[in-house]
Amino acid sequence: MTKGIDCTDEDIVINLWHWMVEDGITSWVFAAAMLRQNGYKRMSGKTVKERFKKYFEDTTGESVYVKCPACEKGTLVPRSSDYGYFVGCSEYPRCKYHAYQKR
Ligand SMILES: [Zn+2]
Repeated sequence: MTKGIDCTDEDIVINLWHWMVEDGITSWVFAAAMLRQNGYKRMSGKTVKERFKKYFEDTTGESVYVKCPACEKGTLVPRSSDYGYFVGCSEYPRCKYHAYQKR
């Protein structure tokens, strides 16, 4: 059942919204990795971008940049740790903001 596209698009978009808009994931490659980690079909960052960019029309270019909600100076950047993926502020260690992936 990996052939159909529409059956899972909505679900994927909801996840992408969480990661890219709320958590501030900044790259499509990273979004693709998050989808893989969550059991979705393997897709390249380019594929994910081409297929889902239309749902994120406010964004342009290669990456989605989201300002840090804590300091409003830094941008959120993806990181990984033993506990999984998370996003942190580019102003770290001055700003300690971070958010973990939605479950
Ligand atoms: Zn910050």
